[in-house]
Amino acid sequence: MRYKIFQPAEQPANFEGDFARFSLTLGAWAAMLPSRRPFGAYAIGDLTANFSKSEFACKCGQCDGLADMRKSFIQALQEAREDAGISFRITSGFRCPLHPESIKRPTSSHTIGVAVDIATPNSQVRYDILAALIGRRFHRIGIGKTFIHVDDDPNKVAGVCWGYYPEE
Ligand SMILES: [Zn+2]
Repeated sequence: MRYKIFQPAEQPANFEGDFARFSLTLGAWAAMLPSRRPFGAYAIGDLTANFSKSEFACKCGQCDGLADMRKSFIQALQEAREDAGISFRITSGFRCPLHPESIKRPTSSHTIGVAVDIATPNSQVRYDILAALIGRRFHRIGIGKTFIHVDDDPNKVAGVCWGYYPEE
């Protein structure tokens, strides 16, 4: 409940007061996001309570921003998001066949809408997200230096956690 510090000590319990609290909550939340994306992209969860379709849109620049994510995957991600209690900043969601990464890795789970990369700006965020994902029975996780990859690909082996660090 971090937003409480932004509230005046005495807030009348009426509609206007509640609306002001709501606005402050979103403002405080947006201020914590390191990204410079338009506020609107995060303000409305048009997929789930916390996620919008635009967050998962393909960034190839050639398609129309396809975001053909599997519903069950997004639902499980939403549950993990609620458990973690912190925002999940999606750095990569759906990738259409034109995406350079899809050309490099045609079997990528991102191409079938069952994978995301989530930003992990520090070790606390990495821990909280990882704990929540494992708690929700996600069983395919990759750890990068600044992100966590998670997928629910039915065609791939379960119970694995890999790293993206260079070979030592
Ligand atoms: Zn695309």
